Amino acid sequence: REGVRSFFRRNLFVLFTVAAVALGVLLGFALRPHNLSLRAVKYFSFPGELLMRMLQMLVLPLIISSLVTGISSLDSKASGKMGVRAVVYYMVTTLIAVFIGIVMVMIIRPGKGSRDSLMAAGGNIEPVQAADAFLDLIRNMFPPNLVEACFKQYKTVYKKTVSIRNVTVALNLTDSLNVSESALSVNLSRVLHTIQETVVETVPVSGSSNGVNALGMVVFSICLGLVMGSMKQQGQALRDFFDSLNEAIMRLVAVIIWYAPVGILFLIAGKIVEMKDLVQMGGQLGMYTLTVILGLLIHGLVVLPLLYFLVTRKNPFSFIGGLLQALITALGTSSSSATLPITFRCLEENNRVDKRVTRFVLPVGATINMDGTALYEAVAAIFIAQVNNMDLNFGQILTISITATAASIGAAGIPQAGLVTMVIVLTSVGLPTDDITLIIAVDWFLDRLRTTTNVLGDSLGAGIVEHLSRSELLGQDAERGTSVLEE
Ligand code: ASP
Repeated sequence: REGVRSFFRRNLFVLFTVAAVALGVLLGFALRPHNLSLRAVKYFSFPGELLMRMLQMLVLPLIISSLVTGISSLDSKASGKMGVRAVVYYMVTTLIAVFIGIVMVMIIRPGKGSRDSLMAAGGNIEPVQAADAFLDLIRNMFPPNLVEACFKQYKTVYKKTVSIRNVTVALNLTDSLNVSESALSVNLSRVLHTIQETVVETVPVSGSSNGVNALGMVVFSICLGLVMGSMKQQGQALRDFFDSLNEAIMRLVAVIIWYAPVGILFLIAGKIVEMKDLVQMGGQLGMYTLTVILGLLIHGLVVLPLLYFLVTRKNPFSFIGGLLQALITALGTSSSSATLPITFRCLEENNRVDKRVTRFVLPVGATINMDGTALYEAVAAIFIAQVNNMDLNFGQILTISITATAASIGAAGIPQAGLVTMVIVLTSVGLPTDDITLIIAVDWFLDRLRTTTNVLGDSLGAGIVEHLSRSELLGQDAERGTSVLEE
């Protein structure tokens, strides 16, 4: 009995969270028949919105303080090795995810048949080129203004402009010809038309949550951490500062975690109340959804656990058990970056992963390692090709693999970011970007599942990197021990 009690005590939060998901689903379906107005749904989802805001509030200070302290607490050789291991893990697992996606979509062929059964959701997608998106990705690694990077990122856009000076010249011309007023307006519109030009500009874009340039903050924090680590005594004040900041933020996480089940309940219920009818889910779109789900399940429940087991020889499922709360939060929020505070807690408190590892690899992973997103991008692109009866050759499939990987790196850890970076994949093989609207109807749902896979990948990665870095970590402990003795 004591055992059962202590099990419940230890897993109280997880139980609350699981119950919240179940209640949220029930409540959502119970309210659906009442056809609540948009405003009523907004009010109803408010507790969920609050959770999102609280978690997002912590993300920036958490990324900066954990990366800076994580890296500066390691010597440069150890952090270098750990960094290489993490990046190799990210690349390998992302490529495996893309491969699984491609194999699944080629076998199931969800897009076969006519495209009539698919309804476009409307809306237009900006015509950005893959090359622009690549450059934006690298550009955003080096934000020119750190404060601005906290709420803005750079994006290349093509704009139509009209040169006013030319219009004046044109007017003078028509004046001198002494034409009637109506002819003048006709001429003017023609002139306007011909002098309209497309210009390309890189502009800072903002948004409530998607403006944050997490990648830029990550690069800056890594560099700052590396430099601080090499500064010995002089860097101590900064190390202490970021260390306390990190500790304080983690304590805030411990408070917010009490509220998480309530927030998750309303996030899920609100989404269910709000979602459109599921009639569209039949046919091609249903098969597409199924393909993505199967791919994510194979990657998350077979490939990644197997990799974890092969490297560490430990039970991957007990590790995943410790992550439940983070996984459910990912499901509820659709954002791996908002989930980051909870992921930290699960790994450090439940799975006892070394803080030097989590602080270093988790913020990087949450920003660039998105296996679920990569898998989904590959499936979606090939699905759109199938819908358009386009046969892809090997080169094109290879291009999709590479661009899907890049698009997943470039996607921010926020809801439906993957849908936006899809443009890179589609333009790289000449698929119509407007067809993204065909899959919008189910994206909110697939987004939740791929975000959960993304968080799972980051977390198992932290476990694997910790295992591979044992000798460096122990070496550093021993060194610290001797230096303490010497002092
Ligand atoms: N929502 C995903 C995440 O936060 C990104 C995506 O849209 O694929 O991990």
